[in-house]
Amino acid sequence: MSTLADTKTLLAELIGFPTVSSDSNLHMIRHLAERLSHCGAEIEVWHDETGTKANLFATLGPKLDGGIVLSGHCDVVPVADQDWTSDPFRMEERDGKWFGRGACDMKGFIAAAVAMASHYAALDLQRPVHFAFTYDEEIGCFGARALAETLREKGLKPAVAIIGEPTSMRIIEGHKGCYEYTTHFTGLEGHGSGPDRGVNAVEYAVRYVSKLLELKEDLQSRAPEGSRFEPPWTTINTGALVGGVAHNVIPGKARVEWEMRPVQKSDADFVKGALHQFCAHMLIPAMQLVHPDAEIKTEVIGEVDGLTPMEESEARDLVMELTGANGADVVPFGTEAGIFQGLGMSVVVCGPGSIDQAHKPDEYVSVDQVKQCLGMLERLASKLV
Ligand SMILES: [Zn+2]
Repeated sequence: MSTLADTKTLLAELIGFPTVSSDSNLHMIRHLAERLSHCGAEIEVWHDETGTKANLFATLGPKLDGGIVLSGHCDVVPVADQDWTSDPFRMEERDGKWFGRGACDMKGFIAAAVAMASHYAALDLQRPVHFAFTYDEEIGCFGARALAETLREKGLKPAVAIIGEPTSMRIIEGHKGCYEYTTHFTGLEGHGSGPDRGVNAVEYAVRYVSKLLELKEDLQSRAPEGSRFEPPWTTINTGALVGGVAHNVIPGKARVEWEMRPVQKSDADFVKGALHQFCAHMLIPAMQLVHPDAEIKTEVIGEVDGLTPMEESEARDLVMELTGANGADVVPFGTEAGIFQGLGMSVVVCGPGSIDQAHKPDEYVSVDQVKQCLGMLERLASKLV
């Protein structure tokens, strides 16, 4: 069977596993593990604490540092309330396109990578190639974070990672991070006629939001020189301010839901540090003067690291050579790439299909895109021997 035909068969099988983030991915992981171990890959399956989800890490070639990771997430977004022409979990071919949930985001890349595994296995590999397939990307990259933690514990240091998110096979070397928080304010309820006898949680939340606005301004002057992001600096957004009961009641509870999108990790540290200072030295002492149990607590909803473009990048140079591209871009959407970069790897995002089709009804990957991806992976073989 040609590699393209094999990729098609495998993609149809993978689309058949309804790996929506809320559900188990174990059937898909088992299937991929079977395929890869059949090629002689060393397989590791690392479960999450619920035991219903797992990461797969498979290796072909010598047990050495400096390998190349091909990575993708197994989970897909839900299909509820979407109007599909055909069953989203049964692949259909129409007009040179393969339709199905996850076709481009990102089972197409996974199928292509695993279909190439038997070719790699037949070579005398000098450099290891790893397959890293994760869970829960769509809801906060939890799988990739756990995988990174396990690699760190094992002391394994691959050099390069290619994340096959749908980029229409363009090379992406940078995207902002996405950090989301909910900050909870607990004051003391009271009657509106005696403001000094209560701790007004909404008013403290407003002061907190004012601080966010101040930091939002400060961040503009911290934009790295030559930043290609749009806008070039780290942004902050206050998405919700919730609290209070009625005109004449001092509110005892309030919360602020906010996010920042860092262009560099130091900006996130700057914001967190400034907020900590402000709460610890200004807001909390004032609140506790009236009510010792008053508090401000920030809940981390998700901290997905950005991918920072690097001046020297083995991954970019490698994938430019493999695809014939003459440059690399930055994009506004987040991926798992920053997590791999955090492990010290050189990372790019490059995969078949368009982000325009991801998460939508009638998601597809075009056969032409899959061919281009297989071309890249075929040429990668020469870099492994
Ligand atoms: Zn994705």
